[in-house]
Amino acid sequence: MTGHRVAIVGGGIGGLAAAIRLRHAGHDVTIYERNERVGGKVATYERDGFTFDIGPSLLTMPHIFDEVFHLAGTTLADEVELVRLDPQFRYSWRDGARLTVRDDTDATAAAFEAFRPGAGSAWREFDAHGAEIWKVAQRTFFAGPMTGPMTGPLTVLRRMNSPRDLLRIDALRSLNDAARDSFDDDHLRQWVGRYATYSGSSPRHVPATMACIPHIEAEYGCWYPIGGLGTLRDAFERVARGLGVDIRTSTDVVEVIADSKSVAGIQLADGEIVDADIVIANVDAEHLYTDLLPDDGALRRVRRADRSTSGFVLCVGVRGRTPGIGHHNVWFSDDYYQEFRALDAGQLADDPTIYGCVSAVTDSSQAPDGDENWFLLVNTPSGIDIDTERYRDVVLARLADHGVDLRERMTFAARMTPTDIEELYRSPGGAIYGTSSNGVRAAFARPANRGARAGLYLVGGSSHPGGGLPLVTTSAAIVAEMVAQDLA
Ligand SMILES: Cc1cc2nc3c(=O)[nH]c(=O)nc-3n(C[C@H](O)[C@H](O)[C@H](O)COP(=O)(O)OP(=O)(O)OC[C@H]3O[C@@H](n4cnc5c(N)ncnc54)[C@H](O)[C@@H]3O)c2cc1C
Repeated sequence: MTGHRVAIVGGGIGGLAAAIRLRHAGHDVTIYERNERVGGKVATYERDGFTFDIGPSLLTMPHIFDEVFHLAGTTLADEVELVRLDPQFRYSWRDGARLTVRDDTDATAAAFEAFRPGAGSAWREFDAHGAEIWKVAQRTFFAGPMTGPMTGPLTVLRRMNSPRDLLRIDALRSLNDAARDSFDDDHLRQWVGRYATYSGSSPRHVPATMACIPHIEAEYGCWYPIGGLGTLRDAFERVARGLGVDIRTSTDVVEVIADSKSVAGIQLADGEIVDADIVIANVDAEHLYTDLLPDDGALRRVRRADRSTSGFVLCVGVRGRTPGIGHHNVWFSDDYYQEFRALDAGQLADDPTIYGCVSAVTDSSQAPDGDENWFLLVNTPSGIDIDTERYRDVVLARLADHGVDLRERMTFAARMTPTDIEELYRSPGGAIYGTSSNGVRAAFARPANRGARAGLYLVGGSSHPGGGLPLVTTSAAIVAEMVAQDLA
């Protein structure tokens, strides 16, 4: 092997994707993961014949993963059995309003029109606006690294074709404002606002740039790998190992060894010192600069951005079938403004919007015959202590108010709190997506991919371009290119 020695700290999807790319480039790559399994937040819970994805449950932009698998001489389709879901989502409100978003723009426009006269064309306009934002964001924000705290906005500006691009990304109004300007119905405004939560943000503060996400779902689809999201994790692991990446699990890294200029390796919890020319941190940037490589300046920069929200998860084993549900479902709160005012103030919502994924609707392997695996997720502030018994009852009672009472039919309801998320993945405060996208500067305040020492790079949800599976996989592409340029 003529390449450089690369140590990757953390085996999340960002770490695995970086490993495949760097191994493909000829380097000698080892992943060090403290948990027994790789995958990080892509994790699975199994009980009594029920299986739950307890992290991501929705996959979009599959071509981003496919690109990584291609480097290893395979394809995403060869490694996992993907299903493009139609319908994509079922939305419900307590007043009886229902909206089903389909994997077909005409059918979705018709569903909006049937929901409220005029909403069909409003949706088409909103989708076209999202497409414009996405076109610009792809070749600016997502096309490469932010080179530093001051140069971040300039980097993006340099990638813009004309000043009109600045207006096209719609960063100066909030998503709530865009919702108000686009739809004259409060339900549909709530539907727009929900996309803020895809980056753990608040619709009151996140830029309207996020309007590109519903367009991304409409264009690239909402996908599900048969067997659950864990099969994607397994595919990444299999492909990485097949290429010759060494993966060491149950291996905690306690230090990134560096002088004031560059990295020299890492130290493991058992005292072993591993020499490395390149260290890729797939851990949360706050953990990196607090514990592994204490650096006040870098930490201050990390803390310029707010943490993303966390979540309260219930995995409910349910006997029998529930009429009218889909694979992905959302039951909205009565007052979204009140709900996010509470979350923004660091409190739990009394009437939370509830996301429910029942993958058994698509995949009978995920629950005993005729039963359902209910993964319920509500947004919470990060770092909050939760009385889990009480809040479980609140969530199930709110769902019952929507006409979906699981309480009689459930056999168990396992819980996951922000504290659990923090402990499982060392994500400070249990933040699901690293930092939030709240505020016009948030996109530039996210920790840079280039670390605080030469040879140190950051991949994953807490660094540029952000959280969510497609983005952490993109961060691996950005870092692999950066490494190649630095070594050239
Ligand atoms: C409940 C929930 C729902 C979500 N829903 C979606 C969704 O529907 N769609 C979507 O795209 N995304 C979703 N996400 C977000 C997505 O899961 C993450 O953005 C993504 O998986 C993060 O990947 P990552 O590469 O940043 O690493 P992580 O998954 O954060 O993994 C980091 C790894 O580093 C390890 N580690 C930490 N410290 C050390 C150390 N010192 N030494 C060794 N190892 C260490 C951890 O154990 C962990 O395995 C969800 C997340 C959660 C929790």
